[in-house]
Amino acid sequence: MITVLFTKPFIEATEVLNQIESHDYDAYFVGGCVRDLLLKREIGDIDIATSAPPSVTQQIFNKVIPVGLEHGTVIVRHRHQSYEVTTFRVDGSYSDQRHPDTVEFIQTIDQDLKRRDFTINALAMDKQGNVIDLFDGRSDIENKIIQTVGNGFDRFTEDPLRIIRALRFSSQLGFSISSNTLKDMKFVKGEIENIAVERITNEISKLFAGDYIETGINYLIDTKVYQHLPIMNEYPNIIGLLPKNMRAVRSFGGVIALFHFLDPTISIKKWVIEWKCSNKVKNEALILNEALLHFKNNGLDRWVVYLLPTEFYRVFSELVNILFELEGLVDEMEDIDSNLPIKSKKDMAITGDDVRELFPQLKSGPWIHKTLTAVEHEILSGNLKNNKIVLKDWIKWNPHVTD
Ligand code: ATP
Ligand code: MG
Repeated sequence: MITVLFTKPFIEATEVLNQIESHDYDAYFVGGCVRDLLLKREIGDIDIATSAPPSVTQQIFNKVIPVGLEHGTVIVRHRHQSYEVTTFRVDGSYSDQRHPDTVEFIQTIDQDLKRRDFTINALAMDKQGNVIDLFDGRSDIENKIIQTVGNGFDRFTEDPLRIIRALRFSSQLGFSISSNTLKDMKFVKGEIENIAVERITNEISKLFAGDYIETGINYLIDTKVYQHLPIMNEYPNIIGLLPKNMRAVRSFGGVIALFHFLDPTISIKKWVIEWKCSNKVKNEALILNEALLHFKNNGLDRWVVYLLPTEFYRVFSELVNILFELEGLVDEMEDIDSNLPIKSKKDMAITGDDVRELFPQLKSGPWIHKTLTAVEHEILSGNLKNNKIVLKDWIKWNPHVTD
């Protein structure tokens, strides 16, 4: 057992452990947060494992969200943070390869650690910083190795998502996958097709956002796992289109925009449907795509910056870095943004109604939108002042846009 230094998120989460322990139950930090603490890496979320049954956890805390009671998981809200608190459990068999058929709640953490996917994730730590390490996870962290807890073939067959998780961790941590585990991944990879797409999307999204994405992509190709992912199973060549100098793409909308740029014959709509993405991801991909196409022809101008919401600057710059080998776009985009004459259509000094009034003899139709877009371009390129009289005048003298 060792003692490790605590950081602020752990100090706050310790209060959750204290509260559980004050009711005479055990509670530990568990999984990725312990791994990341040992790696001195930024922690994602703090997960807690406890001997308290979910019904007790629900009574102990004021704010509890019962997200997965059947698996013993509740989310505890404490000081505006969320903690996943899961009762120690052993999983029964996985006949559907999605969820264990049964789970059994248990009193000690040992068996609970055994059900976890990789040795580096099978670590628990008490509030004093004593680490419980039954599967040599710490030495695997030191040696930068990903390997399953127990027999890889069995563990991947139980839940094939673990195959993709191994790739995702290699991409996030830059770790190697042990040769045995790699062999078992290759053996079982076909089973990936049986798991819920949303779970796959979640892990692949993290893979593409990894700091060591080249490692992750190399394994994705080497294991041929990509041949069992949506779209890539139909278009296996697409993975080979990724540039050699792959860098992290921090959002899945960005990943879709990248692939669509590399192979425009596969529509964004198809990506979104097959990977079961939200409308938010779809809109992000569509906007990034429009911006990339404009950038390809015109470079970084006001129009690109105007098209993109500020929160997309980072992922856009990542994509430009990958596709055009240009770096440090975000600062430039912020500069351009601060000098934009308008930030959105709403800022324009005229509306559709104004345009319609100028040509009372014409029926409403797409020409109104076209006219507004033309004016929008003129304002942004600096040719027209954003002033009602100036804009109306310009439209009167440029009736070509009304056809
Ligand atoms: P992140 O930093 O992305 O949160 P994590 O390691 O915490 O990484 P989670 O998906 O949050 O990953 O899962 C928390 C822990 O639960 C893991 O560390 C692992 O111990 C266990 N776990 C999660 N998914 C599985 C799985 N499919 N099979 C076995 N154990 C799992
Ligand atoms: Mg986690």
